[in-house]
Amino acid sequence: MALKVYNTLNRKKEDFVPLSGNRVNFYACGPTVYDNFHIGNARPLIMFDIFRRYLEYRGYEVNYIVNITDVDDKIINRAAEEDVNFKAIARKYTDAFFEGAEKLGVRPATVHPRATDNIDGMLDLIRRLLENGHAYEVDGDVYYDISSFPGYGKLSGRDIEQMQAGARIDVDERKKNPLDFALWKAAKPGEPSWDSPWGPGRPGWHIECSVMSMLYGAETLDIHAGGQDLIFPHHENEIAQSEGANGKPFVRYWLHNGFLDIEGEKMSKSLGNFFTVTDILEKYDPMAIRMFFLLKHYRSPIDFSEERIKEATAALDRLKNAYHKMNFILDMNEDIPSSESDKVPDEIKQFRAGIEDAMDDDFNTARAMGCFFDIARGVNSIEEHDGSAPAYMKEAREIFDSLGTEVFGLTFGTEILTDNLTDDLMGLIIKIRQDARSEKNWALADRIRDSLKDIGIILEDHSGGTSWKRG
Ligand SMILES: [Zn+2]
Repeated sequence: MALKVYNTLNRKKEDFVPLSGNRVNFYACGPTVYDNFHIGNARPLIMFDIFRRYLEYRGYEVNYIVNITDVDDKIINRAAEEDVNFKAIARKYTDAFFEGAEKLGVRPATVHPRATDNIDGMLDLIRRLLENGHAYEVDGDVYYDISSFPGYGKLSGRDIEQMQAGARIDVDERKKNPLDFALWKAAKPGEPSWDSPWGPGRPGWHIECSVMSMLYGAETLDIHAGGQDLIFPHHENEIAQSEGANGKPFVRYWLHNGFLDIEGEKMSKSLGNFFTVTDILEKYDPMAIRMFFLLKHYRSPIDFSEERIKEATAALDRLKNAYHKMNFILDMNEDIPSSESDKVPDEIKQFRAGIEDAMDDDFNTARAMGCFFDIARGVNSIEEHDGSAPAYMKEAREIFDSLGTEVFGLTFGTEILTDNLTDDLMGLIIKIRQDARSEKNWALADRIRDSLKDIGIILEDHSGGTSWKRG
C-alpha cells in the first residue's frame, strides 16, 4: 500500500508522490522565538518529526526544513519590555527551543534556517514581486497586492469578497485592499532594521517562509506542514508570494495538525492554563508527552489534562514492561541456535504490517499504537518455556526498536535499564540472592528482595530465573 496523506489544499486523502523520485522536500513552519514554547507548539514539533522519520523508514531521502523566526513584532516588543537587544531575546528562546525539542526526543531538522540570515533572499523575492506586478510600495512599506493573484483563498477555501467586507472596519488607507499584507515594513525609530531599496526596514513574517523554503528546499515543496491556525493568513500568503514569483505550484501536499485545548478550554495566559514545555517536562516523562500525542490522530483536536497524561504514562509503561520481558526471554535463550529461534509466528509478522498500514493511512499514529499494545498483550501472554517464545520476542523487539524507537521516538527501557553497570550490579545482587535461597537462607533472600523494593526495584521469580524491573 502506498502512503496516503490528507492534503488540505484538495480536502482529501491522496497518494503521496514526491516531485523528484525518492527525495522529499519537507518544510514545517518553526517557532517565533520570543518566549518558551508551549504544549500546543509541541504537537506539530513531535508529529512532524515522526512523519519525517516514517518517510525515512519508507526509504525516502528527506530534506526537512524547520525555520526559526528570529525577528518579529513579538520579539521586538519583548526586547523593549526587558530593555535588551532583540537578538538577546531571539538567542535565549532559540536555545530554549532546541533544548526542549531535544528533551522531547525530536531530532534536529536537516536545516534550521534563521530569518535574519536570509534577509538578502527576502529582498530579492520582494523585488521580483514588485517587478512582476504582485506588490506595491507605499512610504517605505511594501505590500502584496492580493487582487493580482487569482488563486488567493484556495487553501483556506475562504470567500475573499466576504473577507474584504469584514476587513473594511479596520481599513488602512494606504493599502489597495484591506487583505493586502506587508512584505517589507519600514522601521520605526529604535526598531531593528536592514537597508533596502525602499529604505530601512524589516521583512514581514510570511515572506521568510517563501524564501527559506525555496533556498533550502525547492520552488515546489513536496510537503509543507504547520498548525491549522496557520492556514489563514500565513500559508495562504506564502502561496501568493511563492506562486506569484515563481509561476509554479508552491506545495504538493499541505498537512495541518489540529488544535490543542486544555481541559476543554482554549489555552491562554489570562485563563491561567498556559503550560510551557519546560513546566511540563518538570512534571512528566518526555516519552509520556510523546505518547499523549501519538494516541490521537494529528488532525483531530486534542485535549491536554493531567488525566490524559496519566493514561499516556500507563500506556507507555505497558510497552516498557513488555519490552523488558522480551529482553529477559531473549537473554535467557541466547544459546539457542538461530535456526530454532527463527521460526517467527505469523501473528507477530502481521503486527509490523498493521503499523505500516496505519502510518500509510495519513500517519494514523493512534492506530499504530493500537498494534503496539497488541504486541505487548501477545508478549505478556506467552509462557517463557513456550518453544515459540524466543522467535516471537525477537521479532517483537525488532518492531519495538525499528518502529517504536526509530520512527516514533519512544524509548522503552528506563535509564536504569539501559545502563550496563546497573544491569551488571543487578545481575550480581540476583545471583547472591539465589545463593542465599539455595542455602535456604530465606531471611537474607527476603531482605534483598524487600530492600530492593524499597528503592523501587521489583524482583520477579520465574521458572528460568529472576528478572527485575522498576516498580
Ligand atoms: Zn511559515
